[in-house]
Amino acid sequence: APRIGVLALQGDVREHLAALTEAGVEATSVRRPEELEAVDGLVIPGGESTTMSKLAHIFGLMEPLRERVHGGLSAYGSCAGMIMLADKILDPRSGQETIGGIDMIVRRNAFGRQNESFEAAIDVDGIDGGPVEGVFIRAPWVESVGASAQVLATVDGHPVAVRQGNLLATSFHPELTGDHRVHELFVAMVRDAQ
Ligand code: GLN
Repeated sequence: APRIGVLALQGDVREHLAALTEAGVEATSVRRPEELEAVDGLVIPGGESTTMSKLAHIFGLMEPLRERVHGGLSAYGSCAGMIMLADKILDPRSGQETIGGIDMIVRRNAFGRQNESFEAAIDVDGIDGGPVEGVFIRAPWVESVGASAQVLATVDGHPVAVRQGNLLATSFHPELTGDHRVHELFVAMVRDAQ
């Protein structure tokens, strides 16, 4: 089985580790460059993208992350993780950087504040068996995508799931539901890339 890491600097790491384990892979947390070297795929969890960006620098992981992701490592980012995989943030906090990889511009906190968090049934291209329950918590949306990125799902016309090659990003948190189809899609992408 492929070995899939969860970037464990900040955010809901445990939930992703559990979802990946249930999706049938070996899941491991990644906090150090050596741990990043040892994985076949990487999940970047939800949390707070500014803090994650700062911690990635402090832990000496930002450059290794960029090298591996731009070098072809399969990666999936949810919410703050989506922001980390975006080539560009519309309105970044000062000093906020991303790993990049997906040719898209994201708008942070696009759906409103914490108390405007919501759940919605999301039809995702490439996921069969009915809509996925999407949990949106101060979620970003995708403002625009480049020609090489493919929109898999939208809410009110705004892209909330995007794929580019073996990179996947969702605005929502599938790890907070019992439905692991998004993780299974990512696991299939990791296997295809191997
Ligand atoms: N608003 C957060 C950010 O900008 C993301 C929220 C989340 O991951 N649930 O990083």
